Amino acid sequence: MTEPLCDFYCEKILKGREPIRVYIENERVFAFHHTNPLWEQHVVLLPRKHIESLLTLEEADNDLLLELIAMAKRIAADFMASHGACRVYTNLGAYQSAKHLHWHIGCGEQLRPY
Ligand SMILES: [Zn+2]
Repeated sequence: MTEPLCDFYCEKILKGREPIRVYIENERVFAFHHTNPLWEQHVVLLPRKHIESLLTLEEADNDLLLELIAMAKRIAADFMASHGACRVYTNLGAYQSAKHLHWHIGCGEQLRPY
């Protein structure tokens, strides 16, 4: 590992140091219920590998990116089935609180200010 562990997801979430509810996971990607959800249903999806953001994804990450999108599709399909609508987005810069690439997948009522 050459990347320093310097973000909440690498240091806490992926090491099991936070009480979270896992939504779905495998050897490469991890999804859990947001601990302070913005939406009624709000899942955070991330790669286990440290990648800073959408903009730092590299050609070598293409297989991982496909897997992330496949997992996003699966979670979004669950939300579509239950709510008939779904948001899938990733943030950058000042909008991105944890500097580890992740997607927000949400549906239902907004629970707090953005
Ligand atoms: Zn990280």
